[in-house]
Amino acid sequence: MAGRVTRFAPSPTGPLHLGHAFSALTAWRRAGDGTALLRIEDIDRSRCRPEWEAQIFDDLHWLGLAWPEPVMRQSARGAAYRAALDRLAAMGLTYPCRCTRADIRAAISAPQEGVPVGPDGIVYPGTCRGRPMADAGPADAIRLDMGKALACAGALRFHETGPAHEGWHLVGDLAATAGDVVLARRGFGTSYHLAVVVDDAAQGVTEVVRGEDLFEATGIHVLLQRLLGLPVPDFHHHRLIRDAAGKRLAKRDDSKAIAKYRSEGLTPTDIRALVGA
Ligand code: GLU
Repeated sequence: MAGRVTRFAPSPTGPLHLGHAFSALTAWRRAGDGTALLRIEDIDRSRCRPEWEAQIFDDLHWLGLAWPEPVMRQSARGAAYRAALDRLAAMGLTYPCRCTRADIRAAISAPQEGVPVGPDGIVYPGTCRGRPMADAGPADAIRLDMGKALACAGALRFHETGPAHEGWHLVGDLAATAGDVVLARRGFGTSYHLAVVVDDAAQGVTEVVRGEDLFEATGIHVLLQRLLGLPVPDFHHHRLIRDAAGKRLAKRDDSKAIAKYRSEGLTPTDIRALVGA
């Protein structure tokens, strides 16, 4: 049997911190004698910087990790995302949406009664659902018609190998919990969900390793994999590294940046010990 293929997929929007170190070390450990890949998730060009990307390579090398070159960059994958989007559009599963966040909030009649919130924020109330794709222009995002997509895909399940949710999972009612998710953000040509699914398949990833905060998004990914005829990999959602107050580390939390620990003279072994990897 071929070895497992995992990946670490950071966005170069800031320094890697201890949480990223744990994620990367977990991806390399899970790969065993298979292959751990690095992917640069830089679709949001306004937030990504070449110097952060250079720092990512440097920090990972310093941690003792190696990966096959060339590294995949999402900024170079526009054609692949467009092809996937076209395929979903040809299946009649997409529509253009011009709603702003404020429009969406305003369209929800009684927000005080508890607004359904999914992995992408407020569940879209469906205002633009009747619009045809022929109507799509530069001011539009493209959404997935979740009701139709679920009817088309049938029952969905995935295998989780992470400690918190280990086992097989049936994907629940995504129309209620996620709604009509965005497949292409206005001006981006894709969204996180579409890009990650297309790229994991293109890279032959057999186990998606990432933080537990993305567990809830997995159903959306499995749905897209099924609709696009792509293999459904295993998923491994690992615990999140938190600060002393129990808060999850953010990119702007420079105090936990690997570069900072390096400058203070810590070793890769110290970093492993700090995160328990
Ligand atoms: N690019 C995402 C991040 O920076 C990770 C996405 C994933 O692993 O699916 O956190």
